[in-house]
Amino acid sequence: MNKFDLGILGGGQLGMFICQAAKKLNFSTIVLSQANDFSAKQFCNHYLIGNYNDKNILNDFINLADNFTIETENIPKEVLKKIEKNKNLFPSSKIVEISQNRLKEKKFLNSLKGIRTARYKPLINFIDLKKSLEFFGNTAILKSCEFGYDGKGQHTVQQSNLENFKKLNFKNYILEETLDFNKEISVIVCRTKNNCSYYPPVENLHKNSILRETTFPAKIEKKTRDNAIKIALEISSKLNLIGILAIEMFIMKDDSILINELAPRPHNSGHWSIDFCKYSQYQNLLFSIFNKKVKDPEPIGSCKMVNIIGNDYKNKEKIEKIFKFYDYYKEEIKPLRKMGHYTKIT
Ligand code: ADP
Ligand code: MG
Repeated sequence: MNKFDLGILGGGQLGMFICQAAKKLNFSTIVLSQANDFSAKQFCNHYLIGNYNDKNILNDFINLADNFTIETENIPKEVLKKIEKNKNLFPSSKIVEISQNRLKEKKFLNSLKGIRTARYKPLINFIDLKKSLEFFGNTAILKSCEFGYDGKGQHTVQQSNLENFKKLNFKNYILEETLDFNKEISVIVCRTKNNCSYYPPVENLHKNSILRETTFPAKIEKKTRDNAIKIALEISSKLNLIGILAIEMFIMKDDSILINELAPRPHNSGHWSIDFCKYSQYQNLLFSIFNKKVKDPEPIGSCKMVNIIGNDYKNKEKIEKIFKFYDYYKEEIKPLRKMGHYTKIT
């Protein structure tokens, strides 16, 4: 079999959009998916279905391309290392390893001069949890270090429910202070060895820890905007990023910025760039992978992206009539599952 230009680990909606952008740029794609049905299936040139840890399938996958990327950070370290041994992986396994573990991520971010996250405590046992909860004023967020997304693996802890967490596997969690932030924003950076571009801050509205709406541009002061971009570029540079990195941030009441988390892949808050930028986050990711100059996105105007979650999908036909709608072609509607999104000019 001929080789493909790009191997993508994961075939969800982010993988699907990478494949669609690749097709337009004449790059062929092969997807490795753990699920039988997946959004990218009809858009990639070829796919393999199997567990990332299945050595035979992984070997086949690695042999079929020279350049690889991910659409989720939740990929076993060993798999990333194996790919990187003989092939190119963008972003690098080092970056993915940091961003797939909250504790590593927080330690890294706080080690950078002038960059801060919410205060947090690593946990060892129940007494630790109890003490840390008191430290944070008797309400805090318990977050799993790994495999969290869309608020999964997170619990609000208070004195009233503390006992529920007695049997936790403590070392896999951190306790984080609950922030009274003003806004949530994100900045997406695309970078090669030689140049760099970024998507300016967008404002993100979450409900039950899931992104509902992204607005471009974020309604924040210029000073805060410039600061957010400076921080995003600093983090990307310290990581020697080649590829794409989304940086989620909290803007506090005094306009200071705390970093929430990093995502070394295209980001839900960058979907607007497909319709409202000359160059989307997916195109720029491909430019960075194939060592072409990454472009200034050149946004064409203010806009909004709205996620279609769970049963909202049942109104798909209505939505399609009014807005530019993107279907993720998921088999089954699940309550908090992202099923699609739409964008509109504002
Ligand atoms: P995920 O990996 O699920 O996206 P996040 O840590 O980004 O996890 O949390 C999801 C959302 O929960 C955030 O976007 C934010 O709305 C809310 N959240 C997370 N951490 C805090 C915090 N320390 N204080 C207040 N809200 C938070
Ligand atoms: Mg998040």
